Amino acid sequence: MRVIMLGAPGAGKGTQAVRVAEKYAIPHISTGDIFRANIKGGTELGKKAKSYMDAGKLVPDELVCDLVADRIAKEDCANGYVLDGFPRTIPQAEALEAVTKKLGAEVDYAVNIDVPDEAIVSRMGGRRACVGCGATYHVVFNPPKKEGICDTCGQTLILRDDDKPETVQTRLNVYHDQTQPLIDFYAERGKLATVDGTRTMDEVFAEILEKLGE
Ligand code: ADP
Ligand code: ADP
Ligand code: ZN
Repeated sequence: MRVIMLGAPGAGKGTQAVRVAEKYAIPHISTGDIFRANIKGGTELGKKAKSYMDAGKLVPDELVCDLVADRIAKEDCANGYVLDGFPRTIPQAEALEAVTKKLGAEVDYAVNIDVPDEAIVSRMGGRRACVGCGATYHVVFNPPKKEGICDTCGQTLILRDDDKPETVQTRLNVYHDQTQPLIDFYAERGKLATVDGTRTMDEVFAEILEKLGE
């Protein structure tokens, strides 16, 4: 199963990607997590990506396309993968189409998690991310067992800098301009599966599995 998660920032891509990956026993590949790990590790890539991320802008296509192409060619992706946060632009979608054709294993579904902008703003304000493992929580909708501490790895939970309200609006604008056109891109290819992202996490997951043919 090769799946892409589409949706606005905060729509629930990461939350659902983790569940889909577990269900099919395939890797969850989050480009946002890869960039954040590179920033933390002080790599060249991290240095290049940081200013764009802090501003709520997209990292340039050339910094992300090769990275994903290399990642999905790895052996652990032989049975599939869940791409979370990639592609985010038409050139990225075209690059992905080219590599998957070359690998002889095209994407099966683009799951579009549909959430209106009004709901996004409150979700992002309540999102908390683990500095250790990248797991995400929500102070109201998905609280950790112990406040401020990750259930999985015990490290600290933070509000990401780019989840502050002023940056969230920029990210939503970027989404509408650059990422939303991918909905038509995948619809034209008969791969689009849209789900109602305003429902509970369990309901959204059930609808995804239904659309993936479970
Ligand atoms: P969210 O889960 O809120 O949608 P991500 O963790 O996916 O956010 O991404 C955080 C930031 O990392 C983005 O705002 C962007 O700057 C950068 N980023 C992640 N994936 C991509 C990508 N495919 N292309 C360009 N920039 C990206
Ligand atoms: P994305 O990866 O698309 O940016 P996340 O999966 O990180 O989104 O979810 C954004 C925030 O909203 C997180 O705090 C998450 O716990 C919460 N969330 C995700 N799905 C739902 C849902 N169906 N209902 C309420 N809150 C949700
Ligand atoms: Zn953790």
